[in-house]
Amino acid sequence: MSDLAIVWFRRDFRLADNPALDAARSDFGRVLPVYVHDPEALGDWAPGAASRWWLHHALVDLRDRLSDRGAPLVIRSGGALVHLRDLVRKTGAKAVYWNRLYEPGYVERDKEIKSALSEEGVDVKSFRASVLFEPWELLHDGKPYQVFTPYWKRTQKEWRPVSTRPEPRELAAPDDVPGGDAVEDLALLPDHDWGGKLAEAWEPGERAGRRRLEHFADEAVADYEKLRDRPAVDGTSRLSPYLHFGHVSPAQVVEALEPSGELPTGKGTLGFVRELAWREFSALLLFHAPRLPDRALKEKFRNFPWRAASEYAEDLEAWKRGRTGVPMVDAGMRQLWQTGWMHNRVRMVVASYLTKNLLIPWQEGERWFWDTLVDADLANNSQGWQWTAGCGADAAPYFRIFNPERQAERFDPEGEYIRRWVPELEGLERKEMESLEEERRDELGYARPLVDLKGSRERALDAYAEIKD
Ligand code: FAD
Repeated sequence: MSDLAIVWFRRDFRLADNPALDAARSDFGRVLPVYVHDPEALGDWAPGAASRWWLHHALVDLRDRLSDRGAPLVIRSGGALVHLRDLVRKTGAKAVYWNRLYEPGYVERDKEIKSALSEEGVDVKSFRASVLFEPWELLHDGKPYQVFTPYWKRTQKEWRPVSTRPEPRELAAPDDVPGGDAVEDLALLPDHDWGGKLAEAWEPGERAGRRRLEHFADEAVADYEKLRDRPAVDGTSRLSPYLHFGHVSPAQVVEALEPSGELPTGKGTLGFVRELAWREFSALLLFHAPRLPDRALKEKFRNFPWRAASEYAEDLEAWKRGRTGVPMVDAGMRQLWQTGWMHNRVRMVVASYLTKNLLIPWQEGERWFWDTLVDADLANNSQGWQWTAGCGADAAPYFRIFNPERQAERFDPEGEYIRRWVPELEGLERKEMESLEEERRDELGYARPLVDLKGSRERALDAYAEIKD
């Protein structure tokens, strides 16, 4: 009898605290790690350019770490069921184990694979690994929460102490390993110099993720509540791509902050776990509302009078490139373009500016983020955009339109963040940036404003009045 299980890696690029890998080893002894590259699986939401860059390095990291422990990573490209079946047949594996993903497209695909393989006598098991609570666990009268605060209260009430497992030192693999692709064959890397910029800003991989987590737990979490809204300061964890790609698990994050695994009590640590709960809340929303990425949750917003695409095309391009003439917005968009990441406070500011001041549909901004963020995540991204546009669950009330200048005054009072990303404004005080005459802008080579902030705010409120009732 075969003592072999296939471990199907998907977005859990780690060896430590990996329930599917651990269970396969303890149930079967020998394991065959497999990755199937299937960009079609999420329909319109194939990974964007920054995600593909990260994925390339995540695969290299996983392949090398597995190989150091004695197991190969078999990489295949195409439909997952076809390849898993083929690998089961060629190796005689008795089981296929994986960790669950919750995007509706994956859920459907995985259900089909589970039932097809089970019918063929393969033992199929899936595990919870990327969330603390399954999206069907914390419901309100059987329905998903639509408001975050009660969801967060419930999370605290139902808290289960977490515990994690160390990475295996050795892995037993089959002697004959079926063929597959090399990571390079997947052609994931961008063909322009952006990859170089991303590499300056990030180090993908499991060990790099753990180092970042340790650094944050030791040095920064205590001040998290105080500094998390300051984009010029390294006050947040920057763990988002590591969490998205599963280089670290949320349980590992909690344990690093609170070794007992209990709900932390410190102000910074609890505030931080609350953000992890936002991540879970987004996953829950998407799980129960599969159209979250393309359709407003609040029905009345589905007829919102956006500007026409032909009318906004140039403004959208200026927004993407950080040439709107609004310093805080341009700083954020350039940080994104140069590093594949943007501070959360600034994400809200640029999203509000796009959807309200420029009256451009949120889906356009969501697409750009999808392509350029290294942490692009279908649940968090669509939830973040819908929240800011006012049409999502627990959304900011529409009329609360962020004023980018007031946001800069509060959260970047010295203008440090702006000057870092908008070199045209290097020699200026923050206040001066707000009152730049057109001639002075031309001298500095800085963009003229696309719209007047006050006038465009009024226009947005008028548009909202059309759907309000
Ligand atoms: P920290 O403040 O250190 O938070 C720790 C972790 O909690 C994050 O890594 C993230 O996993 C989670 N988290 C924090 N804030 C949120 C939030 N508001 N919603 C959901 N999870 C959160 N986050 C993504 O991971 N991917 C996205 O594609 C994404 N798109 C966004 C789009 C918009 C318009 C907005 C407003 C927010 C978006 N966010 C997204 C949420 C948030 O901006 C990022 O998670 C955060 O900036 C990541 O930085 P960090 O790891 O330093 O966060």
